Amino acid sequence: MSKNTRDEIIAADKRYVWHPYTEMGSYIRDYEPLVIVRAQGSRLFDEDGRSYLDSSSSWWLASLGHGHPRLVSALKEQAEELAHCALAGITHPQAAFLAKELIEVAPPGLSRVFFSDNGSTAVEAAIKMATQFHAQNGEPKRKRFIALEGAFHGETVGVSSLGGVEVFRKPFAGLLFDCIHVPSPADANAYEQAFEALTRAVENGADEIAAVVLEPLVQGASGMRMYEADYLRHARKLCDEHGILLVLDEVFTGYGRTGRMWAADHAGIRPDLLCTAKGFSGGMLPMAATLVTERIFEGFLGDKSRAFYYGHSYTGNPLGAAVAREVLRVYRDEKVLEGIAPRARRIEEAFERMGRLPKVLRTRTLGMIGALDLDESGGYLASIGWQVADEARKRGVYLRPLGNVVYVTPPLNITEGDLDELLGKVEEAVEVGVSQA
Ligand code: PMP
Repeated sequence: MSKNTRDEIIAADKRYVWHPYTEMGSYIRDYEPLVIVRAQGSRLFDEDGRSYLDSSSSWWLASLGHGHPRLVSALKEQAEELAHCALAGITHPQAAFLAKELIEVAPPGLSRVFFSDNGSTAVEAAIKMATQFHAQNGEPKRKRFIALEGAFHGETVGVSSLGGVEVFRKPFAGLLFDCIHVPSPADANAYEQAFEALTRAVENGADEIAAVVLEPLVQGASGMRMYEADYLRHARKLCDEHGILLVLDEVFTGYGRTGRMWAADHAGIRPDLLCTAKGFSGGMLPMAATLVTERIFEGFLGDKSRAFYYGHSYTGNPLGAAVAREVLRVYRDEKVLEGIAPRARRIEEAFERMGRLPKVLRTRTLGMIGALDLDESGGYLASIGWQVADEARKRGVYLRPLGNVVYVTPPLNITEGDLDELLGKVEEAVEVGVSQA
């Protein structure tokens, strides 16, 4: 097969592709995208063989790095057996055993698995489940949701309604459903007020609220904003007292990103519903799941009208399920979670150092997440982070900022050599990038 040149690829891209989260006018006019043709471990390679450390595990997915040989083999083997079959009324071993194996590593109390194919749909399913559960179990008034300011739960209209990032919500004002947004405990100046605000919101609307939906410990997309496990325990207690369901969106935080398998584990709490995606299939295939307690599952039993009428074409896809099962085996065999602490310490030390650089307002780390805020207003639309990204790229690092927030979320199993190289280069990129701002 003849190879396309870089120019041909970029010409086709700029002529036909509409990129996500991108203002396409300036992209087409001025931007030189990286053209990646291969990836291995923590590195992406362009068509000239130049490598770029993947500072974000490609949108927080590749928790085991790229091209893990065991995941590749699992995918190939499954592709030869069965690439797809629907999961409506028929089944296959990969979905059945993945569900069992996932429950074995899930927070206690969760006992059933509903599959979908991305983080947004995992949360979408959760909010539909919560609504229908209440509707058909004696509490039809419970249709409202509480979420945090700065929350991000995905892209569909349903989960965008829970979202609390104004720039993402604004174009859809009027279309999104009503959601009670409460101040985030990640706002350092309002940590205690956040507890009170949640208490008040719950008490005010007690018998109308279906669920509280939280990104536990880290609000990823709004800038890696972090908060303490106490808040999760507070939310759990309030939900219990008022008959409200607690949904934890572990799409980003799950699978070890925060240092434990689930962010919920830091708080020792049990959600009623838990959403997982991203690391769930090691970043190899679109795959997601919504886990629920037996009580919720049983709330859908009975006559046919009580069933959950929801299911995406690729629900429980055998390829994704086979890979997701192998992901769990790799976590176990390669002791992936046990390897996080020493890496997390290196991230912590590096970000502490970066905290002393000019124009760095503050830094924070948790597990395999390190983030810093640069001194520029504008939030997600700030441009300073992009200057750092340009400098990172010159040094062989693929980094995508969240406005004025620069962060790393590398593969959990990144080698110590690659991690040190990544952190050193990010530090240089911050120093040089902000000096030009
Ligand atoms: N929930 C959280 C917490 C996320 O961070 C994201 C994506 N960044 C989503 C949901 C949506 O996931 P997806 O992009 O796979 O739909």
